Amino acid sequence: MRRKLVAGNWKMNGSAESIRGLLQGIREGAAAVAAVELAVFPPFVYLESVEKQLSGTTVGWGTQNLSEHTSGAYTGEVAGPMLQDFHCKYVIVGHSERRTLYGETDQVIARKFAAARKVGVCPILCVGETLEEREKGVTEAVVERQIKAVLDLEGIGPFAEAVIAYEPVWAIGTGRTATSAQAQEVHAFIRAKLAAFDAHVAQQTRILYGGSMKAANAGELLAMPDIDGGLIGGASLEAKEFLAIAKAGC
Ligand code: PEP
Repeated sequence: MRRKLVAGNWKMNGSAESIRGLLQGIREGAAAVAAVELAVFPPFVYLESVEKQLSGTTVGWGTQNLSEHTSGAYTGEVAGPMLQDFHCKYVIVGHSERRTLYGETDQVIARKFAAARKVGVCPILCVGETLEEREKGVTEAVVERQIKAVLDLEGIGPFAEAVIAYEPVWAIGTGRTATSAQAQEVHAFIRAKLAAFDAHVAQQTRILYGGSMKAANAGELLAMPDIDGGLIGGASLEAKEFLAIAKAGC
């Protein structure tokens, strides 16, 4: 049985003060949604503060990115062992904003996935097609290519614990959500692709949906058999809305 994960990607938002309020709200509401695992992904600079505020609670934390390198002359980068210092449980790799705005290729992302595993931080691998790719009918080919890069480097084994987030790019931050049927179709495709390598592992892999998920549509999405949680952007910046999404998954 896969426990649902509701993960909040704060992107480049928040301040020390707003984060205190947000985390207080999440801490206060977490017990009521205990059937679902919660995790938050602050900007790097708030990591230490988030760790302090969440230590000893059931809410996990992680970062939105990491370097593929372990240390050295990589100005502006943050390495896996640094995430370990702050007891990160998860790290997001290959978010579509990293792919499109910062030119991260499937291969770079696969190396980031490996770098996270090397330090015992669970990667959340984001995959998903653009609107143009969906309209061309190549959604499955795109998602398969993105996952294959990781399979080629790391094999199927890590997917017993690693998380995949299917995030159609056209649904991220646009208010336009995939229908539950559209999302389920791609999630089932991803699981079938993993099952071709190892059916047991494929049953364990949590596959989250991301793209304008909010309390109003979460119930329908999270009821789908292959949707094991959500990666939430905008709606994760308000404790009440974030917790309401989790509630829909309970
Ligand atoms: C995201 O950035 O991963 C995301 C899903 O954003 P939003 O929920 O705002 O669409």
